[in-house]
Amino acid sequence: MQVAKNKVVAIDYTLKNDAGEVIDSSEGQEPLHYLHGNQNIVPGLEQALEGKASGDRVQVSITPSEGYGERNDALQQVVPREAFQGIDDLEVGMQFRAESDNGQHIVTITSIDGDEVTVDGNHPLAGETLNFDVTVVEIRDATSEELEHGHVHGPGGHQH
Ligand code: ZN
Repeated sequence: MQVAKNKVVAIDYTLKNDAGEVIDSSEGQEPLHYLHGNQNIVPGLEQALEGKASGDRVQVSITPSEGYGERNDALQQVVPREAFQGIDDLEVGMQFRAESDNGQHIVTITSIDGDEVTVDGNHPLAGETLNFDVTVVEIRDATSEELEHGHVHGPGGHQH
């Protein structure tokens, strides 16, 4: 079986930035299970895995435009501390869900200056080149329920 649209693919992966630092890895955990062709993973990695077979190893360098996008400085904004009611100890690096005109997204606190809190709505990996080292562990057909939901169920996937 080959990696193709609507197959469930299990991968072991290590992700490094251009400095060679490991940003993310499945090492020591379950392989990542995703539904191919359903935007569960970044477009560049999906393209690189298309047509691969179980046991294949793929090493690929993905530009930001095929990864988590370019950084957009307009997504940074300064908000007053009282916008974070109920949270006593705000810290740089904390992440929150925010509502905007484009739906829900994650914002990260990048600095705190007295009553002024700077939040950044860019994906933490926006602007980064993604260097993936991936091994395809398993490929199977998706169930009709998984296709309906657009994601994988069971081990390594959604538990619901
Ligand atoms: Zn589901």
